[in-house]
Amino acid sequence: MAREKPSLQQPMFERIALIGLGLMGSSISLGVRKHKLAGHIAGHARSADTRAIVEELGLVDSVHACAAEAVKDADLVVLCAPVGVLGEITQSISGHLKNGSIVTDVGSVKASIIRDVAPHIPDGVHFIPGHPIAGTEQSGPRSGFADLFENRWCILTPQSDDPTAVEKLTAFWTALGSNVEVMDAEHHDLTLAITSHIPHLIAYNIVGTAADLETVTQSEVIKYSAGGFRDFTRIAASDPVMWRDVFLNNKDAVLEILGRFTEDLSALQRAIRWGDGKALFDLFERTREIRRQIIDAGQETPDPDFGRHKSDGD
Ligand code: NAP
Repeated sequence: MAREKPSLQQPMFERIALIGLGLMGSSISLGVRKHKLAGHIAGHARSADTRAIVEELGLVDSVHACAAEAVKDADLVVLCAPVGVLGEITQSISGHLKNGSIVTDVGSVKASIIRDVAPHIPDGVHFIPGHPIAGTEQSGPRSGFADLFENRWCILTPQSDDPTAVEKLTAFWTALGSNVEVMDAEHHDLTLAITSHIPHLIAYNIVGTAADLETVTQSEVIKYSAGGFRDFTRIAASDPVMWRDVFLNNKDAVLEILGRFTEDLSALQRAIRWGDGKALFDLFERTREIRRQIIDAGQETPDPDFGRHKSDGD
């Protein structure tokens, strides 16, 4: 049941529709509210449970069980569901999109989304895929917070030739606190494979290996987890559906980078076997410098107030 609320502000968009109200959808809604970017925020959540939580928290101005109903008259539609379902969602809303509106998304891969979504975008609607490089390992509507996108990058891979639409979406993400960069989808997917997707795969793998080890009991894994393992468990707690879809939809880039990674790992194995301390020291020194550069660039900000660890998320 929709719950309409009037707005007194002169907003950037009259009406925004958020399709999917988990971590990303709820954070966008809270950020839009905080910066007064929309007259009305309509939200679609798939399950009755999520819709009930969204109503309870008052996360959006109207909650819709039907995505097509949510996008009606929206000037900006943001797809915030897992990568693997965005094509079918767009097909279901296609006939209801407003002429001149912008459709974007927050999916962690870009080429497969363009392949799945673009065929359902009607003429007169601007499709500008996006990816905020911001997140946490939490999911669901209770996990969102307004500052998630502050001082984070947002990458756009526009499929529309209309510069005004790209400028408007850039202004939107800038208002949420992000720095916006435009690039092509293939370049995005390769870059994110190394900076995000492979690190998550390694975390899932190492936590899985530790859990399987017969000589290390579960309690010892937990007891001594501060020795580096704990950081991996945080990453490996990320949403299983989201990450399954990321790997299935960025297959080529992930496999290419994984090949490189495996070669480098073999070189490390060799250095340890042959006692090549210099090779180990040189690498560790180089990697320490990279960490320093990331901190200098302001891209590592633990949030002690809330116990949240803002990361590149995906
Ligand atoms: P999330 O917290 O798990 O929320 C996902 C939302 O999508 C939920 O509201 C879910 O509905 C909804 N949904 C799932 N399948 C659907 C369907 N078939 N139709 C309609 N809605 C559906 O996930 P998230 O972290 O917000 O991730 C959303 C997107 O953001 C993903 O594409 C992900 O790649 C991208 N992303 C995530 C991060 C991150 O760190 N988490 C960072 C950058 C980008 P129910 O609650 O009803 O199941």
